[in-house]
Amino acid sequence: MNGVVLKERTGQVYEKGAGPFKLQCNLDSLPGAVSQRACVFCGSRVVLYPITDALHLIHGPIGCAVYTWDIRGALSSDRELHRFSFSTDLREKDVIFGGEKKLEAALLELIERYNPEAAFVYSTCIVGIIGDDIGAVCKRVSKKTGIKCIPVQSEGFKGNKRAGYEAACRALINLIGDGDIEGISPFSVNILGDFNLAGEIWIIKDYYRRMGIEVVSTITGDGRVKDISRAHGAKLNVVQCSGATLALAKMMKEKYGIPYIRVSYFGVDDMADALYRVADFFKDRQIMENTKALINDELNKLYPALKEFRRELAGKRAAIYVGGAFKAFSLIKAFRLLGMKVVLVGSQTGTKEDYEELEAITDPGTIIVDDSNPLELSEFLKEKKVDIFVGGVKERPIAYKLGIGFCDHNHERKEALEGFIGMYNFAKEVYSTVMSPVWRFVPRKEG
Ligand code: SF4
Repeated sequence: MNGVVLKERTGQVYEKGAGPFKLQCNLDSLPGAVSQRACVFCGSRVVLYPITDALHLIHGPIGCAVYTWDIRGALSSDRELHRFSFSTDLREKDVIFGGEKKLEAALLELIERYNPEAAFVYSTCIVGIIGDDIGAVCKRVSKKTGIKCIPVQSEGFKGNKRAGYEAACRALINLIGDGDIEGISPFSVNILGDFNLAGEIWIIKDYYRRMGIEVVSTITGDGRVKDISRAHGAKLNVVQCSGATLALAKMMKEKYGIPYIRVSYFGVDDMADALYRVADFFKDRQIMENTKALINDELNKLYPALKEFRRELAGKRAAIYVGGAFKAFSLIKAFRLLGMKVVLVGSQTGTKEDYEELEAITDPGTIIVDDSNPLELSEFLKEKKVDIFVGGVKERPIAYKLGIGFCDHNHERKEALEGFIGMYNFAKEVYSTVMSPVWRFVPRKEG
């Protein structure tokens, strides 16, 4: 880790085996360290954006809207209002005189033009500074139009990306509770924290259908306002990517008494475990039998294919840098299944518990890092002689500049990686990337 880590960040980097484990996390990013971490506003956009029939209006300068526009692969089976990124485009005059009038006019115009089921109004840094009351504007417009307008208090500077998740959950709880819950099955769930990247939620919904379980709402991937308003009628909340929607599950437990479990739909073990845990919750013989049959069927198809990839990939080295640390657990297991070694793992928003778990499941010598930056990541990748780097849009150029393969495991990807078929897709992508002959022509930069 030779000297690239700034003195103030040394507590956020750890190499397994080098002394007792102690990692600082959930701190404000260090000024000047060009953090990979997104802002509060971006965190709230990640969570709410996949609600496809709602209007998403960003109250702020155009740059904030551009930051989160069209880089996300959340698909819709119906309306696609979420593909637009509306902004009030605040200018100097608005900063001086206030932007509430502009916001109200924009909301009224957009509601009339697009007839959304609800509207989310996102606050950005500048709105926090000039003090526009987006709550009051939302209230007025809701009254005038009959459309639920929900303020999202997501001023970028207010904390880190994790605070954005919480702002989104506070906004979401306002949508739940109005819908008719008559006729909902006693074997019913809400899917939380899956964003339907590349259509993944459709794979998972199909598994639940085959098990005999009704999915009341998906929050937020392929989300519909009407379904979310009935979410309080489900018997169980199944939360994946816990960083993003765990707060909502907790709120729903408190308000409606709905229990929740945390799962991951990525990788063989975690996918099977998720389905078994849901089946177990309902204590129904038929559901358990359906679940066993489904998993056996899928594994019989998957294992022979994985064996082929494993033969070539065994011994290769992987690095992981993701938004939420929960994803990293499943990725480590998936690489192990392919015979590969994870030598670096880090996240933007991991908690103390997340990192403790990472420390427990990684091999000695693995670097564990919180809220990293391009300089650190580049050095770690070179030092550990990595063959493939898994990350998101901001990590891709780091890998390519160093002549290292890259796998997109973030919101921008177009390939479904969840479910049993997702494990196959993942293995195939890792194989094609790591074994690509292109690396012979782009020499890897050594440390
Ligand atoms: S909310 Fe603030 S930190 Fe986030 S994109 Fe806008 S200006 Fe940047």
